[in-house]
Amino acid sequence: MFQMAALFLQSYHYLVVNHGIAITMKINSFIIFSLILLGSIPQGSAATDEVIKMQLSWKHQFQFAGFYTAVEKGFYKAQGLTVELLEGGPGIICNEETLTTRANYCNGTGSVLKQRVDGEAIVVLASIIQHSPAVLVTLKSSGLLTPKDLIGKRVETLLAGEPIPEIAAMFKREGVALDQLDNMENSLGIDALLNRKVDAIYIFLTNETYLLDSLDVDYHVISPESYGIDFYGDALFTSEGELREYPERVEKFLQASIKGWEYAMANKHEIAQLILQKYKSTKSYAQLMAEANAIEKLMLPDLIKIGHINKAHWKATAETMKSMGIIKAAYSLDGFVYEPNGEVEYSRAHKFLILFLCLAVLFCLVLCVFNRTMSAEIKARAEAQKQLSLANMFILKQVYTDELTGMGNRRSFYEKAEAEISLAKLDGSPLALLFMDVDHFKRLNDKYGHDVGDQALKKLGEVILQIVRANDVQGRIGGEEFIVLTTKTDLEGATDLAERMRLAVEKIELVSGSSRIKFTISIGVSGFDASSDDIHSMLKRADKALYQAKDQGRNLVVINP
Ligand code: GH3
Ligand code: MG
Ligand code: MG
Repeated sequence: MFQMAALFLQSYHYLVVNHGIAITMKINSFIIFSLILLGSIPQGSAATDEVIKMQLSWKHQFQFAGFYTAVEKGFYKAQGLTVELLEGGPGIICNEETLTTRANYCNGTGSVLKQRVDGEAIVVLASIIQHSPAVLVTLKSSGLLTPKDLIGKRVETLLAGEPIPEIAAMFKREGVALDQLDNMENSLGIDALLNRKVDAIYIFLTNETYLLDSLDVDYHVISPESYGIDFYGDALFTSEGELREYPERVEKFLQASIKGWEYAMANKHEIAQLILQKYKSTKSYAQLMAEANAIEKLMLPDLIKIGHINKAHWKATAETMKSMGIIKAAYSLDGFVYEPNGEVEYSRAHKFLILFLCLAVLFCLVLCVFNRTMSAEIKARAEAQKQLSLANMFILKQVYTDELTGMGNRRSFYEKAEAEISLAKLDGSPLALLFMDVDHFKRLNDKYGHDVGDQALKKLGEVILQIVRANDVQGRIGGEEFIVLTTKTDLEGATDLAERMRLAVEKIELVSGSSRIKFTISIGVSGFDASSDDIHSMLKRADKALYQAKDQGRNLVVINP
């Protein structure tokens, strides 16, 4: 589409510059011809008989289980795709060059975000492993248990001479500068730790812990996640070019891959055998299973739909990288995250180009109708319209979003909830309402300050957004009060969801100086009676249940059908 538009504009410019406005009629004919041509070229149709290539980041192992499964079980074939998986190894990374010369898709870690900010046209399609497996490991007997303990020690902090982002960020957050350490390359291996040639090694929880366990080593893990650094572990990427040229193929590849992952995580033994037999993995069966189990813990398939992308998670990663000077301060993530439903999120430059193209076409049609009369007034109106629609889009987003958590706000919640209730009354589908309130929040504010209070609200918002489905209506409707209207879900399902949220919040740990802070929530749940309920009556019952939860000691889910 963009190539066609560029061609069109270039040709138009050439004609005007070289032959003047006197040939407007000819230009008009050309425009009409171009528009017909533009419409007649099939945009985004996938070349189905072509072999689609996926570049894996490392040697064959369970890290890529979903992709092997989608090939083996015919999930790609069912979508009309022939997929070849290219084995990776040292020196092979997911970048724009890989995506333009070798493969259509590749997998990489959270640090691909830096490449995007540095100008590579890479788009993330799915977040497969929700948390980075990268950690430091020490021997327990050395007594080195925290980042601060490692000051002056030999620590593997470098990858090809550059600081490893999440490890460096952990030290920074703990107030330790990298030059206070004896920084070493990450490739020394387990032997170097056992022989005390290094004090802390850099490993992946999915790989080396198996070796340490099998050697019966008494080791200690220092994980960036425990210090508030939470990068994505593994994600699926493509190029902006692929997305533009073949949007349907991207969607098909993504859906088949996710299906592959769902099958693989439900059938780990079978897929470990497949990797061993068909892909000749150098790992043993026991190693592949240990890897599968470690991946499951970082992937949380029971809690988060496989592949789910949390934009706030990428934003937090970017903010951490910004604070460390890894990426520029004026970064933009526009267009980095793939928008499903066939909608492509274009960068600002692309949006501007689309807008420009629409205006150009409008302008040309007016030119045809009024026989070469191009008035200044029309130009001014078109420009004003452009500004107005941009301003409207911006205001609309602000009006419906809670600034602190990025969730819906009170207005957004009520409008959407009322629409869902009307719909449920028509089609008879069930609904339920969850009313959540942070326990003893005043105490938390008083003891640690409002900044920590705000941090708690943000984390809580993230957990809610990760757990609810796209069709559920959510919002922050008061200071520390949140609501979710679950659609097509009965009271039992909603209670189950509430319990999962309560447990997920119990696991949140906030960091403030040397304090590790936990907090809890109480939840009131109400059901839906299509003959008599509206949003206010549902809220009233849920609120009553919430008060009972508070009375009964807090950190509880109470139902008021
Ligand atoms: P309970 O468990 O009974 O609900 O106790 P509580 O302390 O949470 O009681 P209450 O609901 O009355 O307290 C809410 C507090 O939330 C009061 C206010 O200072 C705080 N609060 C409201 N909005 C914000 C906000 O945006 N940020 C922060 N940090 N605090 C807020
Ligand atoms: Mg309250
Ligand atoms: Mg409260």
